[in-house]
Amino acid sequence: VSWASLGVSDRLSRALCNAGFEKPSLVQAACIPSILTGKDVVVAAETGSGKTHGYLVPLMDKLCSSLGSDQDQMEVTERSRGFSLVLCPNVMLCEQVARMANGLCDDSGAPILRAFAVSGRKGWPVDEPDCVVSTPVALLNYLYAVDPERHRRSDFLCGVKYVVFDEADLLLCGSFQNQVIRLINMFRFEEKVLSRTKNSDVGSSKEMMAESADQFELEQ
Ligand code: AMP
Repeated sequence: VSWASLGVSDRLSRALCNAGFEKPSLVQAACIPSILTGKDVVVAAETGSGKTHGYLVPLMDKLCSSLGSDQDQMEVTERSRGFSLVLCPNVMLCEQVARMANGLCDDSGAPILRAFAVSGRKGWPVDEPDCVVSTPVALLNYLYAVDPERHRRSDFLCGVKYVVFDEADLLLCGSFQNQVIRLINMFRFEEKVLSRTKNSDVGSSKEMMAESADQFELEQ
């Protein structure tokens, strides 16, 4: 199986080969085509199986193709084109995911996308990242923070195009579950305010994620 046969763009396939990933792992081959077609996906596989790139690659591919050709890149970057949000249960994992995302570079050595790991210490990026990686509590702190930029919260919520729950089994239980449900409620609230058409009840976050999602469970 090649990256191209999964539908991954040439530019990103080259970046993956540059990083030493010559072909997709089993879990990547299983889940990337579904994510690329825009489906919601639930993946269960062991650490080290490559599941982080299993979601990073299609997210990058989607954000890259929304950039159009390299020539258009500057122009489109000027406009807000949205970004992906990855939620992880701890700061160390956030930093690891951001490092993996920033490690995929084009032929000139420039990162394909800019990923930013949020932590209480560092504050928030001044220019727009393509991928924000955060714990639920760090994101809630940011969204609730009293800040002179009063529009920041709704700007942020409107910019999110894709959401990933990394280690979803942890994020959907205990104290994380309440934080995640609060976040989901805020996204839905913004959607209602923006479109004034959506009026769905929020069930448990677990039910929401499983609803109509393609599911992949790999035992290796
Ligand atoms: P995971 O914790 O499941 O995301 O696995 C991460 C490890 O898998 C890292 O060491 C990556 O460098 C490695 N990895 C990810 N994708 C590939 C690939 N296609 N081929 C070889 N190694 C990979």
